[in-house]
Amino acid sequence: RSKRRGRGQITVYSQEIAQEMKRATQLEQALRNAIIADAVDVHFQPIVRLRDGAVLGFEALARWIDADLGFVSPAAFVPLAEERGFIDALSETLLRKAAEAALAWPRELFLSFNLSSAQLMDPGTAQSMLQTLARVGLDPNRVELEITETAVMTSADTAHRIITELRQAGVRISLDDFGTGQSSLGRLRDFTFDKVKIDRAFVSRITTDRASEHIIKAIVAMCDGLDLQVVAEGIEQIEEAEKLKALGCGMGQGYYYGKPADSMATLRYLEAHYREFARIERITA
Ligand code: C2E
Ligand code: MG
Ligand code: MG
Ligand code: MG
Repeated sequence: RSKRRGRGQITVYSQEIAQEMKRATQLEQALRNAIIADAVDVHFQPIVRLRDGAVLGFEALARWIDADLGFVSPAAFVPLAEERGFIDALSETLLRKAAEAALAWPRELFLSFNLSSAQLMDPGTAQSMLQTLARVGLDPNRVELEITETAVMTSADTAHRIITELRQAGVRISLDDFGTGQSSLGRLRDFTFDKVKIDRAFVSRITTDRASEHIIKAIVAMCDGLDLQVVAEGIEQIEEAEKLKALGCGMGQGYYYGKPADSMATLRYLEAHYREFARIERITA
């Protein structure tokens, strides 16, 4: 790009901005249509007990493939839906689909669902989510909601009320992407969580970077003291899994254990998993 300053460059930028706005509006329209057509899907990624690899539950992850745009990342379309004010409609569709899929799993498995920051500013969120679960018939005791530190801090009072209401109904709360947000540990004490998910940024460096190892060690120790469960996100290699186990981390998630897959593939994954577990139990019995 040109380093020349002056009017010419301003024109280039304003054209770029105009183009970006046009693109966002096209994306918005396509996403609205996809929600109406029920074309936004949900995939599931296993969360395992690190000690033996047993599957404990699945995280639901939104998936959308548009005919023209192709694969669009939820990291792009979730914020867009928040910004344009239809995250409720999107999230309601996703929760319904995720909960319906979870009905086909063994009862001891949990469903973990991501809550966006805009939803934590809307006092109606707890009731509408509980209603969706009730309509589908999924026990709130099997459901966990993932929220980020930053989302909690943005609108602390409302977030606190929503979290309390959901926990009273039996839903558990996970703190997602832990270690990357802007909250202080002191503020975190004001909220009640059940689980902490250590961000992939630390996990992916655990075998090469001493600092990341010490940070994870400290998070695990803190969670033990506070009676919180710990999940390490983004485990891709066996070496990472072994290290995390040695550090006392209870649970893990990542491509090493399973990539996100649609509901049918998830059922096949579970069948194979339980067959393998029955085999291991026979061997060790
Ligand atoms: P997240 O909740 O932190 O989800 C974890 C992300 O890491 C997912 O990306 C997952 O596919 C990816 N991941 C899991 N294991 C590995 C691994 O071993 N290596 C690598 N490189 N990546 C791994 P995804 O599906 O693209 O989602 C991105 C983000 O979009 C999520 O981050 C979450 O914040 C948001 N999101 C996804 N689905 C939903 C949804 O239904 N509702 C809301 N509100 N947000 C969602
Ligand atoms: Mg998550
Ligand atoms: Mg995460
Ligand atoms: Mg993330």
